[in-house]
Amino acid sequence: MPAPIVAIVGRPNVGKSTLFNRLAGERISIVEDKPGITRDRIYSSSEWLEHKFRIIDTGGIEVGEEDEILYRIREQAELAMDEANVIIFLVDGQDGVTPQDQAVAQLLYRTRKPVVLCVNKLDNPKMMLQNTYDFYELGFGEPFGISSVHGTGLGDLLDEVAKHFPEDYDATYPEDTIKVSLIGRPNVGKSSLVNALLGEERVMVSEVAGTTRDAVDTQFSREGQDFVLIDTAGMRKRGKVYETTEKYSVMRAMSAIERSDVCLLVISADEGIIEQDKRIVGYALEAGRAVVFLVNKWDLLEKDDKTSIRFEQQIRKEFPFMPWAPILFVSAVTKQRVHKILESVQLVAENHSIRIPTSTVNTIIEDAVTMNQPPTDKGRRLRVYYATQVAVRPPSFAVFVNDPEIMHFSYERYLENKLRAAFGFEGTPIRMFTRKRA
Ligand code: GDP
Ligand code: GDP
Repeated sequence: MPAPIVAIVGRPNVGKSTLFNRLAGERISIVEDKPGITRDRIYSSSEWLEHKFRIIDTGGIEVGEEDEILYRIREQAELAMDEANVIIFLVDGQDGVTPQDQAVAQLLYRTRKPVVLCVNKLDNPKMMLQNTYDFYELGFGEPFGISSVHGTGLGDLLDEVAKHFPEDYDATYPEDTIKVSLIGRPNVGKSSLVNALLGEERVMVSEVAGTTRDAVDTQFSREGQDFVLIDTAGMRKRGKVYETTEKYSVMRAMSAIERSDVCLLVISADEGIIEQDKRIVGYALEAGRAVVFLVNKWDLLEKDDKTSIRFEQQIRKEFPFMPWAPILFVSAVTKQRVHKILESVQLVAENHSIRIPTSTVNTIIEDAVTMNQPPTDKGRRLRVYYATQVAVRPPSFAVFVNDPEIMHFSYERYLENKLRAAFGFEGTPIRMFTRKRA
């Protein structure tokens, strides 16, 4: 189950970044293979007592024109209200209540999410005692006094925040249900594809009994196979002010990726591949998810007999580390090849969770070693004793050797390719670990 999400909301300069950094443990960022790419901070994972949680970085608000500030505050507050489980409303205890604080309060009145009011910059005991009273007028009950700079008061604040963590807010689905998400930047056609998929004749969408909870995912079946579309709500247009920001779409994609088995990376045929697509798919790979490329809006291209080949070559060039991912050229509008999507999802999901018997794995590895001698290092040759599959989703193999130090990246690749040649593994990454035989 993913950890609950906490967001910090407040006007500029109250100390949101300072508090964020205080609470931030390990940072989750988008990993890029290439050097020189900035790693976006999306959220941090943190722990308080037995609770693990994530703090989302809703983005700093720079001091500027009043209109601009209010727009940014709204953007940030709406993002927090939609995505967080608990909101920390941060104010500045040295400044007292300001009209901008009142504007934030107005926005937060609309949410049903728990809001914890927190008064920052109370750097000494006297301030702690005296400077919180004013803030009752904001209407969020008892304020928690802290000093982000000194780290005081954080324990009580986190106790209060943790009280509001939901017991079990994330649905768990049966083992054999395939969890699939559509990822990609805004406007590539994710929501249109969702509608097209769910509108397919053979697809039966499960009735969601009239719950008041937001239905985030959509469960359905197709020819006896159960699926769940992760984060359907997030893919449907909601017209929120923050939706066009890149950081938001990446963040949304990341939480969908975490909950999926198969990720459909949607690319728009008329716009091609951009950096953001690579980052998103990089995260899916890092998380070990199966991937299918969907080149959508195929109807928009003037095509000749080489168009799809050229497009495929471009994808292979831009994503050289995943030649195994299937590519489908589709159109949500004309429904061209939409019926192929779930077939492909089912196939790659099977490959993603396949278990190969150890004896079969060893036959392949032994043959590979005979055909191409393992590397040597300082006169010592790598000896490969045996290999076995140690995990599924994705298929992961341990190769036991005399000395893992002598293993070469290229030889590991070679063994991986031999396994792929034997078993296909279309659509799924595979992992190889080299271990010293005990
Ligand atoms: P943000 O705009 O809300 O993200 O605010 P920042 O985290 O950038 O902080 C704004 C300013 O307030 C910086 O100069 C911080 O050093 C200062 N600040 C943050 N927390 C505290 C605190 O607990 N005490 C004091 N005295 N200053 C603080
Ligand atoms: P999302 O932001 O990724 O969910 O994208 P939408 O599904 O909202 O689609 C963005 C725009 O692209 C809308 O105007 C759609 O009508 C249009 N669109 C989506 N799929 C297709 C397609 O296959 N062909 C064409 N021509 N337009 C499409």
